[in-house]
Amino acid sequence: MDAPRPLSVAEAQACLLARFRRADAEAVILSAALGRTLAADITAPRDLPPFTNSAMDGYAVRAIDTVGASVVHPATLAVIGVHAAGDAAPLTIRAGEAAVITTGAPLPAGADAVVRLEETDGGAATVAIRVAVASGTNIRQQGGVIRAGAPLLHAGTRISPGEIGLFAATGSATLPVVRRPRTAILSTGNELVPAGAPMGPGQIPDTNGPMLAALVAQFGGDPLFLGIARDTPEDVRRALDAAPDVDCIITTGGVSVGAYDAVRAVIAARGTLDFWRVQMRPGHPVAFGMIGATPVLALPGNPVAAFVTFHVLVRSALARMLGWSPELPPTIPAGLTRAVAHRGEQQTYVRVRLRAMPTGWEADPAADQAVGNIFSLSETDGLAVIPAHIPGIGAGEIVQAIRLDG
Ligand code: AMP
Ligand code: MG
Repeated sequence: MDAPRPLSVAEAQACLLARFRRADAEAVILSAALGRTLAADITAPRDLPPFTNSAMDGYAVRAIDTVGASVVHPATLAVIGVHAAGDAAPLTIRAGEAAVITTGAPLPAGADAVVRLEETDGGAATVAIRVAVASGTNIRQQGGVIRAGAPLLHAGTRISPGEIGLFAATGSATLPVVRRPRTAILSTGNELVPAGAPMGPGQIPDTNGPMLAALVAQFGGDPLFLGIARDTPEDVRRALDAAPDVDCIITTGGVSVGAYDAVRAVIAARGTLDFWRVQMRPGHPVAFGMIGATPVLALPGNPVAAFVTFHVLVRSALARMLGWSPELPPTIPAGLTRAVAHRGEQQTYVRVRLRAMPTGWEADPAADQAVGNIFSLSETDGLAVIPAHIPGIGAGEIVQAIRLDG
């Protein structure tokens, strides 16, 4: 099999993105919408508030009837009834009249202001108004927040509790979201047993399966674990052929140059291999191709390398399928707390802890950057990017860092 040349990280990201499309839309109820992505621009279906109402408990009045009113010279108005929140709007206020009103109740016809209860004597038959109010005082106008038909939210918005509140306020029960990209995950390796299963000599727990399922879910996908395949083309092929209809497949392990590295050959035999090897570290042997219409991301087996290649490559694929912007993982500038050595020919991702300082972000590299050190991942919330072809980075220098929380 011809080995394609290694790509730069930017080339690999572009090559990969070209193979992904946004997933289709589905309607979800508000209680299931948290974290989902809006699939369409939304306009307000009705005015908000839907009717003009009182912002205070007090008396609905005609502002003109309060001209000159004060504590010393209150204006006395006849109380003609009560508008409470939830009432329809039966009353009409005429000259010299007022109505008791509660917060959220519709404003009676003829009234154009509300006087707060605290600025009256609280009377039942007549009321002494101790303040002059301007027209519009303590009133929430129909459509004052947003008018029917005005833009409400844009496609691509990730739904937070605030947006769920907004949708509920407009009277909507469901909203259109992008379907979660179904992402199959296959671990490969003769040495692997499912996490928690008894381990024989030479065996280790499958770390990547659970970790990648969590990463896929964190970045908006719907993970589906296919299990563990052995290091033979037959077993890898069987596992991939058995995969149900999914939007993409992630494999780990078996993409390096060893005698047991079967995954690349299976992708090439079953479909096309778009790239193999990217100028990045960790993660150099990562491969990508298509089997039929299904993109297959073949990540290295080393868990730290799988983790880094997920953030650098797979995240952007999920972002494209979800319609997120930007698609590439956003970076922040951060000052390195200590120098990192660098061989220079590959873009290096240094596991760091990010700290917000008064002067900006600080990136503190994990003490042990060995690729075998999975412990470092639990202390990491950023990946500092050390570009290829530079000799190294000194303490205090600014680097770009990918935030792992998106
Ligand atoms: P490979 O990419 O298959 O050459 O694997 C590189 C290293 O990662 C080897 O030490 C493997 O044992 C280890 N490894 C591969 N897959 C996994 C996995 N799913 N969980 C934990 N370690 C793995
Ligand atoms: Mg292996």
